[in-house]
Amino acid sequence: MLILVLNSGSSSIKYQVREVPDPGGPTGGGIVTEGLIDRIGDATPGPEAVADHAEALDRIGAAVSEVLGGRELDAVGHRVVHGGERFSEPVLINNEITRSIERLNPLAPLHNPANVLGIRAITGKWPHLPQVAVFDTAFHRTLPEHAWRYAVPDRLYSRYGIRRYGFHGTSLGYVSTRAAMLLDIEPEDFDAVIAHLGNGASVTAVKGGASIDTSMGFTPLEGLVMGTRSGDIDPSILIFLLRQGMDADGLDELLNSDSGLKGLAGNNDMRSVVEAADGGAQAARTALAVASYRLAKYIGGYHVAVGGARALVFTAGIGENSWQFRELVVDRLSALGIRLDPDANRARSKEPRIISTADSPVAVLVVPTDEERAIADATAAVVGSR
Ligand code: ADP
Repeated sequence: MLILVLNSGSSSIKYQVREVPDPGGPTGGGIVTEGLIDRIGDATPGPEAVADHAEALDRIGAAVSEVLGGRELDAVGHRVVHGGERFSEPVLINNEITRSIERLNPLAPLHNPANVLGIRAITGKWPHLPQVAVFDTAFHRTLPEHAWRYAVPDRLYSRYGIRRYGFHGTSLGYVSTRAAMLLDIEPEDFDAVIAHLGNGASVTAVKGGASIDTSMGFTPLEGLVMGTRSGDIDPSILIFLLRQGMDADGLDELLNSDSGLKGLAGNNDMRSVVEAADGGAQAARTALAVASYRLAKYIGGYHVAVGGARALVFTAGIGENSWQFRELVVDRLSALGIRLDPDANRARSKEPRIISTADSPVAVLVVPTDEERAIADATAAVVGSR
């Protein structure tokens, strides 16, 4: 099947066309073409200007048709960030499903509205093409209540849906299957801690192949130190700043866009922060220390939560590429006996691999993620089972 995978943001759409030969099967998933349309809605006139998501999809449609020649797409798979409590599996989209995703907009104001624009633009352009929504929250449907509840009055949950949801699920599902295969463990016996470290970063406790705790919560702001997000802070800081005269938009920007590595070191790119720290910049060293300490603390907690992890898995931009950051984190885990093989940790490879010593009680793995492939496979499976 030929699947167009769309990852729509508020001002950009990333796309890939994937060939999925065997729906749900372990093989296949080649990239046929891919691209990015950005600056959607940017007022600057010029040949690159794209008015809205519908125009962006016209461009994507034209680029894709050129590559495909006479071949037709079979379906579109959308990465949808927030599925709330209703969506725990990928679903075939119809008008009612689109409206339900739209009703979740307040829970993911940066992402879900863009997903809905993408879905409606496809419906307008190719009304007969099946569309599937694949939710980033779905992998965490197995969180037990003691992990998803905040210790606040129940009305916050019953009235507003305030609870922990967790994100990065598409990546986590893919990576945990791959990691279990690499270690020759049945997926349902796989107990692990998985660190997805990109611009957004989260860590997840996986027991028997299922998520039992994760560091992101009601929104992707909770948990680890990220590129521009603070992760965990004392909520009283918000109350204090409100009383100092800051408003909701200001707080949102402060914690989502100006904090994390950027707030501590002035740069949200891990490569630049590592370089600056190597060059002696104290602020960059502090940023790496805060970020690696926070992650190590979560890993220790989740190791206990899963009853002793068989594996610690690193994935996404930083997890796959920054041997320096992996070393900083694992150095803090010596109380668990976990040790890296320094050569294996520094080796460059795009393959899933083990980077710990043979006697490390927990295997440390690097497993490249491929969210588009996971979305294409899930989409093909839903469409194939209609
Ligand atoms: P997103 O969440 O946007 O998908 P990515 O998974 O692409 O993010 O990760 C982006 C992060 O990965 C950035 O902090 C970037 O510095 C880091 N990164 C990418 N390549 C490397 C590399 N070769 N070495 C170190 N860090 C890297």
